[in-house]
Amino acid sequence: MRPPAPDNDDTIRIPRGVPLKRRSLLKPLLAGTGIILVPAALGGIWFALKPTNLLSAPIPIGAQTEAQIDASEPCATMVSTFALDAAVIVIDFQNLTTQGLALDRVAALVEKDHLPRDRVLSDAELIQAIHGSGDTIESYYYGHDYQAADLAKFFRLAAQENIQLNPHELWLKALLAQLGWLKPGAVGAIITVPAASGPVTPDMRAVILHHEISHGAFYTNATYRRYAESFWYSLTDAARAAFTGFLGRQGYDTTNTELMLNETQAYLIFTRDPRFFNAQAVGMSDAGIAQLREGFIANMPDFWLRPLANAILPPTPPRTAQCQQARATTPRGTCQICAVIRENRGLFCA
Ligand SMILES: [Zn+2]
Repeated sequence: MRPPAPDNDDTIRIPRGVPLKRRSLLKPLLAGTGIILVPAALGGIWFALKPTNLLSAPIPIGAQTEAQIDASEPCATMVSTFALDAAVIVIDFQNLTTQGLALDRVAALVEKDHLPRDRVLSDAELIQAIHGSGDTIESYYYGHDYQAADLAKFFRLAAQENIQLNPHELWLKALLAQLGWLKPGAVGAIITVPAASGPVTPDMRAVILHHEISHGAFYTNATYRRYAESFWYSLTDAARAAFTGFLGRQGYDTTNTELMLNETQAYLIFTRDPRFFNAQAVGMSDAGIAQLREGFIANMPDFWLRPLANAILPPTPPRTAQCQQARATTPRGTCQICAVIRENRGLFCA
């Protein structure tokens, strides 16, 4: 999922010497973006964020509801099965940097425009692709979603090409092996959300998660996938072109029809926050978007995702703000503070 567009006040810092290609992203209706620090190179930051014991023990996997995830502030990356669908795995990253290091190279292979679909990028190529699109490791995506088969393909190609993966990518590979998802025919989806830090506020984190949950359903429920496909082809040519244009401006590969219709259901139905999606972004009227939404929801397959279409996102509890402040001010003691605040709900800390 793409981040909302920055204000034109240059609060996002671009590394010196790297040309910025300004995209016409959504114009945010709500002000405020944070500062994104751009590492000079991937290699340097791997060590700065050195994962501890990433590969030496099974990765703990709990089960959490959307509200539980929204209410939490991970001090270290946490993995859960989504309570409504055990085939959806939620990775709750401790920050955007860790998330980007684990998954930006996968994004480049699977979804990003003008990049090869049949080989994995080297470090240098990845950095060039990220910076060339005007992004940073952190902003390439704010939330990720992939089906098991695409993740398995990524690691298969990386091995064939002898690409040296970073420790966060190797951690992801270990997770997939633990889940049995590197084998052919595995059905499952990884969805991710970053902790509320830097430019990501607690309420934005909830919006990102809601959007990504819909992708999880798309990948694991064949009936819903077919429904999203039939909806896409029921749209007028003009409407399909409008959504394709919007997604192209966000950096998605517009030649991938499945990606277009998957993102359309996620933005149109499950991203009701004008910072990330609104009618103007697709050149339509509010009434036109409302009509499309109503039509989609009225005929949705009756399964766990359906009530989420019109659900109001869980409120961000005050304790989340307290925890965020603790994370910012006492990085080393943060985990203990957060663990207390979150009533020991299976938190593990680096
Ligand atoms: Zn999406």
